[in-house]
Amino acid sequence: MDVSELLDDLNQKQREAVGAPAGNMLVLAGAGSGKTRVLVHRIAWLMHVENIAPFSILAVTFTNKAAREMRGRIEALMGRPLNSMWIGTFHGLAHRLLRSHAQEAKLPDNFQILDSDDQYRLVKRIIKSLNMDEKQWPPKQLQWYINGQKDEGLRPHQIETHGDHTQQKMRDIYQAYQAACDRSGLVDFAEILLRAHELLVNNPDLLANYQRRFRAILVDEFQDTNNIQYAWLRLLCSQDNHIMIVGDDDQSIYGWRGANVENIQHFLHDYNNVSTIRLEQNYRSTATILKAANAVIDHNQGRLGKELWTDGSKGDPISVYAGFNELDEARFIVSQIQDWQQQGNPLQECAILYRNNAQSRVLEEALLQQAIPYRIYGGLRFFERQEIKDALSYLRLIYFPHDDAAFERVVNTPSRGLGDKTLGIVRNHAREYDLSMWQAASQCVEQGLLKGRAANAVTAFRSLITELSDQAEHQVLDEQAKTAIHGSGLYAMYQAEKGEKAQARIENLEELVSACKQFEIPVEEEEELTPLAAFLAHASLEAGETQADSHQDCVQMMTIHTAKGLEFPLVVLAGVEEGMFPSQLTHDEPGRMEEERRLCYVGMTRAMKKLFITYAESRRLYGQDKYHTASRFIKEIPDDCVEEVRLKSTLSRPVHNRFSPATSHEAFEGSGFTLGQRVRHRKFGDGVVLNYEGSGEHARVQVNFDDFGAKWLVLSFAKLEPV
Ligand code: ATP
Ligand code: MG
Repeated sequence: MDVSELLDDLNQKQREAVGAPAGNMLVLAGAGSGKTRVLVHRIAWLMHVENIAPFSILAVTFTNKAAREMRGRIEALMGRPLNSMWIGTFHGLAHRLLRSHAQEAKLPDNFQILDSDDQYRLVKRIIKSLNMDEKQWPPKQLQWYINGQKDEGLRPHQIETHGDHTQQKMRDIYQAYQAACDRSGLVDFAEILLRAHELLVNNPDLLANYQRRFRAILVDEFQDTNNIQYAWLRLLCSQDNHIMIVGDDDQSIYGWRGANVENIQHFLHDYNNVSTIRLEQNYRSTATILKAANAVIDHNQGRLGKELWTDGSKGDPISVYAGFNELDEARFIVSQIQDWQQQGNPLQECAILYRNNAQSRVLEEALLQQAIPYRIYGGLRFFERQEIKDALSYLRLIYFPHDDAAFERVVNTPSRGLGDKTLGIVRNHAREYDLSMWQAASQCVEQGLLKGRAANAVTAFRSLITELSDQAEHQVLDEQAKTAIHGSGLYAMYQAEKGEKAQARIENLEELVSACKQFEIPVEEEEELTPLAAFLAHASLEAGETQADSHQDCVQMMTIHTAKGLEFPLVVLAGVEEGMFPSQLTHDEPGRMEEERRLCYVGMTRAMKKLFITYAESRRLYGQDKYHTASRFIKEIPDDCVEEVRLKSTLSRPVHNRFSPATSHEAFEGSGFTLGQRVRHRKFGDGVVLNYEGSGEHARVQVNFDDFGAKWLVLSFAKLEPV
């Protein structure tokens, strides 16, 4: 390979970084300026020009996907496989170290990783074994605490409790938990990093060995490293090797998980002779998208400061669409994606990005309705999520108590003290007499096969389901769901937990109530099925539908966090309204608003050619209608970058100002109804007209019924009457 090949398709600044003499380097630059590309070329340069063996290179990325891509790109540049090069995430690399030196790390050879769910269960058992009350010491909170301490590099004996009783108790739990892990050779995620750090600290020879080995260390997305990761890197660097970090303070979006953007400043302070290179040319986005993103991030204080420019074309304006509600928003997004496809472009090039996982459901349904394949990255599809499956299991038992799968899933969720032994007895009995678990459970109690606490717990569970079914008889579908979620204790269980994940689970549960409220029983099933039965069928069909596989051309869906580092020709940022994005929680914590804005910057800068920003003026959120205004982030975009879109099909959509809610009372052509008018339906009762589309016999109206939620109805069949 000719050296010039490594520099040819780089600009002057990028070449400087790639071809710099060996030394410590910081590449600080905004989104899409080629940081990752520089890192890749630098690695190839080090091998080709500086003759550093692949074996002596350590490269750190943020996700496994990014690591795979990076290896692929370097191998392509070098034209050969480079198996001996270490490329991975902090966790992946630290894990590798522990495997190679398990003994020195005081771990058994066959140590196992404890994932987050297993960790939760273990913490729970520890709390119980210490005779402490779970209500006072919620396991999730303790799990969060333990991981937080580890991320700061702290063992129990290093924690200052200042005589505070609560702090002491938490420390005791941490200690007992750690002892249990050590006894059974278990290592949780935070432990992987901490243990690898300790391994190097406690074994100077080993450390010296790795310091000699890794002549070059390179880190992408450095702005999101946490303290223990920083300390780990710091150890590996010595006089003889050098480190290059690339990052963007404006894209630091994991502060809530302990990432510390100040590590960039620490780096400048802690390392000798750091040369800093700034890249300022953006190659990813159109001038319009770039200008808009720059304007938004400019509202943050205390930035390290950098402006991006591009010599690319101005491109299309950013299209902002104000959906009447979230269904309208989703329909708009789908129609734009269809247009894109009809112009001969692959679906693969479209990404829908959102703030929270729960937002995916409405979008998923709109895509399914039009048979557009999609793939969700870094998360499960709505009906496959753990908490949703739990809640659906309760609904299934209410509908049909002999559903063994549902019974097994939730009989001890939330915990009712039913152990495997008790369930084993019930299972055996069911098998022997060919009964459902539901029947067997009752017989086991009657016949004295179960006694004492076990018998009580089983009986209590049966009464709970019976009680929920009794209540359900008088309830509409969404009330049934609400009762199941609350009455079962699922809601309280997640509420007692702490952290983003528990919060997301609660949001999903509330979203399930919304799904029930919006659910429209298919006309052909109306006679035979109760709404609950029809909904359960709908949910399992949708979950069963296989997700588009990675080779199929499909729309990419993910949270903005997951999209970090990626790029797509067409990007839709959905749900960009106050209260959603920035999220409601933002107001309570200092610094959170700026992190939200950085997240918005990350989202916008994923777009190469076309960016849509959409929001819903009213959104059924967690079972309630909420009215929102456009996000402040939309208002921060200069006017000349934005075009407001209106759909032709929603002919009578009132023309209104971009940032104010619709307020029209014009009648739709010939229909006799106006938006916002109150109407009555023979079955659904009273409601308000929300939306309208089509004309003549195809005309449909959307009515938000007081008792049944929003529904689309064919106007000529609906026989609506004005109230
Ligand atoms: P992010 O901050 O989002 O991680 P980044 O700074 O890492 O972005 P890259 O992903 O490396 O940016 O590059 C963005 C896009 O610009 C890529 O498609 C890349 O191939 C392209 N690119 C980078 N440098 C050049 C260049 N000199 N000439 C042409 N294209 C370039
Ligand atoms: Mg990058």
